[in-house]
Amino acid sequence: MVAEARRLADLWISTEMERLRSGGPEERAQELADLQAGIERQLLELPPEETGDPLPPMIPAAFKAHDPRRKQPAIVIVGAGVGGICMAVRLRQAGFTDITILEKAGEPGGTWHHNRYPGVACDVSSYYYCFSFHLNPGWSQMFAPGDEIRAYLQGVADTYGITPLIRFDSEVTSCTYEQDHWHIRLTGGRALDADILISAVGFLHVPHRPDIPGLDTFHGQAVHSTQWDPSLDPKELKIGVVGTGSSAVQIVSALAGKAESVSVFQRTPQWVFPYPNEHYSERRKQVLSRYPELMGRLFEFFAAWYNGEFGTAVVGNQDAQEVFRSACVANLETIRDEELRRKLTPDYPIMCKRLVFSSTYYRDLQDPSVHLVTEPVGKVVPEGIVTADGALHELDVLVLATGFKTHAFCRPLNISVAGGPSLEESWKDGAASFESVAVSGFPNLFVLGGPYSTVGNLSTMSCTELQTAYIMRLINALEDSGADAVVPRAEAQQRFVAEMQSHARDTIWLSGCKSWYLDANGTVTIWTRTPQEFRERMLRGPDLADFAFLPSCA
Ligand code: NAP
Repeated sequence: MVAEARRLADLWISTEMERLRSGGPEERAQELADLQAGIERQLLELPPEETGDPLPPMIPAAFKAHDPRRKQPAIVIVGAGVGGICMAVRLRQAGFTDITILEKAGEPGGTWHHNRYPGVACDVSSYYYCFSFHLNPGWSQMFAPGDEIRAYLQGVADTYGITPLIRFDSEVTSCTYEQDHWHIRLTGGRALDADILISAVGFLHVPHRPDIPGLDTFHGQAVHSTQWDPSLDPKELKIGVVGTGSSAVQIVSALAGKAESVSVFQRTPQWVFPYPNEHYSERRKQVLSRYPELMGRLFEFFAAWYNGEFGTAVVGNQDAQEVFRSACVANLETIRDEELRRKLTPDYPIMCKRLVFSSTYYRDLQDPSVHLVTEPVGKVVPEGIVTADGALHELDVLVLATGFKTHAFCRPLNISVAGGPSLEESWKDGAASFESVAVSGFPNLFVLGGPYSTVGNLSTMSCTELQTAYIMRLINALEDSGADAVVPRAEAQQRFVAEMQSHARDTIWLSGCKSWYLDANGTVTIWTRTPQEFRERMLRGPDLADFAFLPSCA
């Protein structure tokens, strides 16, 4: 059955490439939609009983159960978003019981809890943006809205008994490793100890609020995209949006024609891939609920597309790059006004920045209520934004869709080893990890979504799930060893970072643009090989020779 899904995915990819290279620009988006709908129909029409082998687990649980003769280690996970929930599910399934999740917010969901701006949605196909152990037939559309993803994560947390493990409103202020334990301090003077500390705070949680002169003088609301007040009625409001990344594009499309006006302050144009957001029928949801095997096929189908076509384009597959480039160029050609099209045409290679997915952005930018401003932002005054040419753009609300401090990773947790370096000091020349999940010098610290994780337009859920499988194997190895702590050897981490950096040279991210994939030194700190290689590395698990197992210092 999985082979059949792969066959259809391959067919889709090759046919799609062929179609994108031929045909008129206006027809291409529709062709894509038709093709996808056609293949999906084929998937849905395949009767399960004819191909009926049960699906193998997509991410095998290649870890052992906790040995009941051993003391339960106290495990603290920071963050109840995608990573924290997935990690806790894995640990509970293996019989670990002393698990605490510390969450600074009052609800689970992480990034999907915090981001409630208009139009918030995931631009990874919903059938793939889920855990392989909890597929969801109920998604309403190709790109699930934020509230559905929030509800999905809440559902996973409830179903697998994770919710009672979460301590909400618990913000971590520091984590210090001393005498075989992590001492974790929280706001309000609270504290707890752990044997194992797992950071699941990800990389999209520290807002980047730009240093625009006069920002504090604005008379209306000036909010980062993560701070949008969902009760705000945009009607009769003049709204300014700074930025043109994935968040801004969704916000602009959601507000076009609904607010009195929307001014989009663009510093750099983006490549925009016109992927249609198909709405899913009740009939489809019923069929998928009835035949979970079909859900598995769709998961495999989209995994093959994202990891194959997409994942190889960014690391040097020029044929795959051409598929995306020609679709984006065709999308640009739908803009009627030549001057507007010129302003929206990037001058750097496609996918150098994270590709924006939207089949509505260019249409909505041409709505009479929307104005693209390409003059640089000069300053903020009480009435609005003054651009470098001296023009005042009057605003009631200013949305800073200016992204995140993506290289902070888990630094806000103030992690350190007593008598040793802090993570901040260790990473002063750039964040590093060993195989994306552990950090040399920091015993019993595991990281989800840390340096050298696969990010970009891939599924964070899938990346996280793979990392948790690796971490489970490390925890198994730690228990087997009888040692108190495990930590990557410095030379292993240096070798891994050198491997990542040697492959970075082939990536599109170093082709001459600025993006959040690069740190302040211009270094790529995300996984630089193919997603398939990431999957294999995570599922292979740790080579124990790369780790030191530390005895108790008591
Ligand atoms: P982003 O991609 O980092 O975009 C930030 C935007 O703000 C850029 O256009 C940037 O311009 C602009 N900007 C930053 N500082 C500025 C300044 N001082 N003046 C003017 N413009 C400024 O941030 P994002 O859109 O929030 O997206 C971040 C990531 O979140 C995404 O890449 C994605 O991984 C995730 N996300 C995902 C989804 C999804 O659907 N899955 C949706 C939203 C976000 P420059 O390009 O010139 O730097």
